[in-house]
Amino acid sequence: MARFIFITGGVVSSLGKGLMAASLGALLQARGYKVRTRKFDPYLNVDPGTMSPYQHGEVYVTDDGAETDLDLGHYERFTGVSSRQADNVTQGRIYQTIIQRERRGDYLGATVQVIPHVTDEIKKFALAETDDVDFVLCEIGGTVGDIESLPFMEAIRQLHNELGRNQSILIHVTLVPYIAAAGELKTKPTQHSVRELTSLGIQPDILLCRCEHPLPESERAKIALFCNVRKEAVIQALDAPNIYSVPAQYHAEGLDEEVLRAFGIEAQGLPDLTRWFDIMDRYDNPEGEVTIGVVGKYVGLQDAYKSLNEALIHGGLANRVKVNIHWIDAELFEQPDSDIAARLEPMHAILVPGAFGSRGAEGKIASIRFARERRVPYFGICFGMQMACVEGMRNLVGVPDASSTEFGPTPEPVVGLITEWMSAEGLQKREAGGDLGGTMRLGAYEAKLSPNSHVAQIYGSTTLSERHRHRWEVNMRYKDRLENTGLIFSGMSPDGTLPEIVERPDHPWFVGVQFHPELKSKPFEPHPLFASFIEAAVKQSRLV
Ligand code: GLN
Repeated sequence: MARFIFITGGVVSSLGKGLMAASLGALLQARGYKVRTRKFDPYLNVDPGTMSPYQHGEVYVTDDGAETDLDLGHYERFTGVSSRQADNVTQGRIYQTIIQRERRGDYLGATVQVIPHVTDEIKKFALAETDDVDFVLCEIGGTVGDIESLPFMEAIRQLHNELGRNQSILIHVTLVPYIAAAGELKTKPTQHSVRELTSLGIQPDILLCRCEHPLPESERAKIALFCNVRKEAVIQALDAPNIYSVPAQYHAEGLDEEVLRAFGIEAQGLPDLTRWFDIMDRYDNPEGEVTIGVVGKYVGLQDAYKSLNEALIHGGLANRVKVNIHWIDAELFEQPDSDIAARLEPMHAILVPGAFGSRGAEGKIASIRFARERRVPYFGICFGMQMACVEGMRNLVGVPDASSTEFGPTPEPVVGLITEWMSAEGLQKREAGGDLGGTMRLGAYEAKLSPNSHVAQIYGSTTLSERHRHRWEVNMRYKDRLENTGLIFSGMSPDGTLPEIVERPDHPWFVGVQFHPELKSKPFEPHPLFASFIEAAVKQSRLV
């Protein structure tokens, strides 16, 4: 039976619990164990799909079409294990399940309550689909003390008892702040946070203390004494120079050994961290650098483009170059006096990422025109592919009204609502005005690539499976006219109805994809499209 590691956070949010869980997963894997990493989110949305990226950061999409928390992206990037719907649950989804059941009469007259019904549902989620792994890491979103997370804490408390000895442990991630005026690290917030946990009946086994300065032995001893844990189980987690050095850093602090000890397992030898040392070496010793302009909409919050940011860095690792990302607000290019050329000329490549709605669309179209005309490598992802087609229709075919119906009615719908498509579950149908939550074309779909295309050469294959999240699609009625101008439809859905990739063979690097390749890129397995795009940027950097 799988062993469970519950991870909670205390004192403040944004402590990097997700990265911690991902890194611990990677360390256990490097010791030969099979892991799954999952996340409980205490908010009441059924999933983050309907939330603004500014609220919640990126929505991470799994192969099986779940719209999930961005921490699942960290888990996949660090462990390589594909996440599933079963790996992310929100309190909203738990309540939805319970209320649907109550309406059906399944509770046979009982009063439906937080304990036991909500907690039972949470426990069921924690235990589901875990037979084939050694360790399940469950991160609990939010901070200990939040009203919302109480049912999750209670479920952990119950599970800890029910699973029996040595089957589950709790890691509490806290902050040990540095007070500059006193020149000291302060342990009191950690003590309070652990007291809060113990008042809920939960005793942490390991404390991971985030700190900006090394934690002196005396403070470690103090935390251990007041929080009722062994001194070795108080682990310092200093700020890391980059996220991919975290697994090696936590190992050096003894985290993986302490975790095994807490389960009563004696660590055998050392974890094999070769892959992580190679990544750190590539990261720390680049042989050059490139500057990529990302012309987007949610540029004020980096978390909104988390996987994209990482995938670009992975492309840099593949080419041994440092990738400087310039986040450019597309709306800037919509002002009459905006000098697009001056802003984009220093870029070695331009990328337009996924987006929803019309805000900034004109600025993106202008950037794509710049990339096409100036022969600067261009990568369009989802919305960025759709706008590349609108740009081509407007400026090369000469149809000024070319647009997307996402922005309102248009006489020239180059991008239109997808009303039906084939999925593994059969024909899917949609209509305008339907529900927004969970109804997009989501998850992994295959595509067929033209044998002699640039993308087939990049993938080294004529088929692919990539993850999608979109409601609109390039309209096939415009295919011939676009192809006549040199924008080739080089990837299509297997039934030939939905355009998946467009490219310009007469341009150094111009590719638009309807899917999100950034979701599958890993530091130890950079996505071929990102590796190739950064390679093109390196070539461009030698020209300018
Ligand atoms: N808004 C566009 C659509 O739904 C693009 C989505 C995206 O970029 N992820 O089709």
